Amino acid sequence: MTFIPQATIDHRALRHNLQKVRETAPESRIWAVIKANAYGHGMERVAATLQAADGFAVARIEEAQRLRHAGVTKPILILEGVFTAGDVESASENGFQLTVHHLQQVGLLETTPINFPVECWLKVDTGMHRLGFAPSQLSEAALRLQKVNGVGDLHLMTHLANADDRNDPASLKQCERFDRLTLSSYTDLSIANSAGLLAFEETHRDWVRPGIMLYGVTPFQHSIGSDDGLQPVMTFSSRVLTLNHCNAGDRVGYGGTFECLESMPVAVIGVGYGDGYPRHAKPGTPVLIRNQRLPLIGRVSMDMICVDARALPDLQIGEEVVLWGEGLPVELIAQSSETIAYELLCGITGRVDFIDVEKD
Ligand SMILES: *Cc1c(COP(=O)(O)O)cnc(C)c1O
Repeated sequence: MTFIPQATIDHRALRHNLQKVRETAPESRIWAVIKANAYGHGMERVAATLQAADGFAVARIEEAQRLRHAGVTKPILILEGVFTAGDVESASENGFQLTVHHLQQVGLLETTPINFPVECWLKVDTGMHRLGFAPSQLSEAALRLQKVNGVGDLHLMTHLANADDRNDPASLKQCERFDRLTLSSYTDLSIANSAGLLAFEETHRDWVRPGIMLYGVTPFQHSIGSDDGLQPVMTFSSRVLTLNHCNAGDRVGYGGTFECLESMPVAVIGVGYGDGYPRHAKPGTPVLIRNQRLPLIGRVSMDMICVDARALPDLQIGEEVVLWGEGLPVELIAQSSETIAYELLCGITGRVDFIDVEKD
């Protein structure tokens, strides 16, 4: 038995969630978004399992290079594009598709001689005001790229800012701005992230770009993945390190922020912010032991947390504790830590052991 915290990755759930994308947007091809180490799940293992995706999208060229190095032959889209001539050469040699969101990137493509043409996705800013050309600048960028020998097919994409709220009209406004552009200049179009895909059918274009939903997690506020038929891929767990019997008036953990009001068992669990458990988890945040939810007490330390074990008086050292995943949605832990599930998943650190399973 190991006391090292574990991230158990359920590959069957991963395929199930991809299938859910297929059913939701049956006319679209799928860029499976596996940036940031596949949202903390491990990019190479996720790519190997998502054979049914049409391609993989990552943020940075280094991630794309890692994928090719791992033997991935599918199309790879780099969502932030290139920043140096060397990047352009690497994209050409490796067959990466590039997001182009700035005239500086257009300049790099114009001036870097390459052997194999590179497909480019012009990114237009329809309201997020992060990456992308203003609609008024777009045709200049498109005209310049069309003249570059090294540029192959030219596509168009945009990104939604508010799709996590099904009732926010901003997403449809973004779609309308997109549809007012000269779409016929482009081979393929793409708008949807997970939230757009699930909430707004008008965002399903030639390609959809789901990330978070592949991991079984909802993109929507006040919701969990199973509400949309998704299954959690990562179960983060550890074990009971020790059990203390505290007396009324005893204080638990750094700062003594929790005071026992009666004599009670306190379980110390071998996981902390050094593993990726959120330090800001509020008192009362549940952990799951024997399918029962026990509340966090006191502050989260680097290697340990403490929970109120009154509900399980016969608890033993070494018993398994689920921090999130199967039976305990990561969305709940995120809410209780004033963050989003994306951050928790990405935050799993290098000292956690990964276990690959196929659950049924
Ligand atoms: C991260 C990202 C996505 C995926 O977003 P999810 O909310 O995880 O589905 C899609 N498109 C772009 C441009 C992104 O940066």
